[in-house]
Amino acid sequence: MPIQIIREDITKLRCDAIVNAANNSLLGGGGVDGAIHRAAGKGLLLECMKLKGCKTGQAKITGAYKLPCKYVIHTVGPVWRGGTNGEKELLESCYRESLQLAKEYECESVAFPLISSGVYGYPKDQALRVAIDVISAFLLENDMLVYVVIFDKAAYKISEKLFADIKEYIDDHYVETHTDAHFERMRGEQCSQILEAEEVCFETTFLDEPVTQQVEPVKELSLAMPKQVAKFSLEDKLGEIDESFSEMLLRKIDEKGMTDSECYKKANVDRKLFSKIRNNVHYSPSKTTAIAFAIALELNLEETKDMLMKAGFALSHSNKFDLIIEYFIQSGNYNIFEINEALFMFDQSLLGM
Ligand code: ADP
Repeated sequence: MPIQIIREDITKLRCDAIVNAANNSLLGGGGVDGAIHRAAGKGLLLECMKLKGCKTGQAKITGAYKLPCKYVIHTVGPVWRGGTNGEKELLESCYRESLQLAKEYECESVAFPLISSGVYGYPKDQALRVAIDVISAFLLENDMLVYVVIFDKAAYKISEKLFADIKEYIDDHYVETHTDAHFERMRGEQCSQILEAEEVCFETTFLDEPVTQQVEPVKELSLAMPKQVAKFSLEDKLGEIDESFSEMLLRKIDEKGMTDSECYKKANVDRKLFSKIRNNVHYSPSKTTAIAFAIALELNLEETKDMLMKAGFALSHSNKFDLIIEYFIQSGNYNIFEINEALFMFDQSLLGM
């Protein structure tokens, strides 16, 4: 099952377990720790007192008391001391141990704050990268829905360089779109003038015999069309139906030598949703799901557009979401989690699910 990056107060989440970025004493503190203890009530503190602390990089589990989840997993992140004191390994261990505990307690869903990224000073972009890397490795072997909760988005940034590149790409293509639109409009106006002058030619393409006499435009045109349609039965037309989205997806999975599970996991798509698509040749996925599969299959831009078309969608230069997708495909970066981080930063829907 997939990872979801969300912006929420973790204490409000109704998942099986939430993770607390605790300190070694496990007796409460500031930040998310304080918020969790306040919302859970005194029972949590009493249970934590019995645990006799927790080492950095390790995790312990308790009940959730007044919180809407079932468990709280307490883990102690490293304090950032410049990055050369084993911080990354300790932070990875926090995620791994917490996920392992969640698994032992048969949790189907678990939510993490960005451990160490508050008072402990771990740079937020690097903290997020560690979270995504460890969680995605875990999900390759396990089924769980994992939320990564970003509380204060304003303070969080994807790499400045990536942000600047995407922004530049969007700006450039917006300009292109406006310019195109301008020419398209002009072309449209010219076309309608030409059409007014040439309505007879239009009509001739629909009739069996070449027409030489002048016919009444517009009104006649719409009356003439059923003649043409009648030449083909609806059945004939439906017989020409193209490969469906589901068929193309399965074909591409084979062509790329992937297994189904490699593909849906890489697409950050839930196994159940994948089975629905697999079992229904005419399944209509959402646009974000269709793109997630194109990314998992590492399709180039043309193939991506083709696949989207089969699901009834297109990529346009008129919205940021499409431009961000295009940017990543053009850059050959098919890491869905990085794409989702960027989409999140630009307030767009995320891929997968
Ligand atoms: P640490 O001491 O491990 O750095 P903090 O609690 O100071 O822990 O911060 C960890 C992260 O949790 C920070 O990114 C902070 O913005 C975030 N955070 C704080 N309160 C909440 C909350 N209620 N829900 C989710 N995340 C929160």
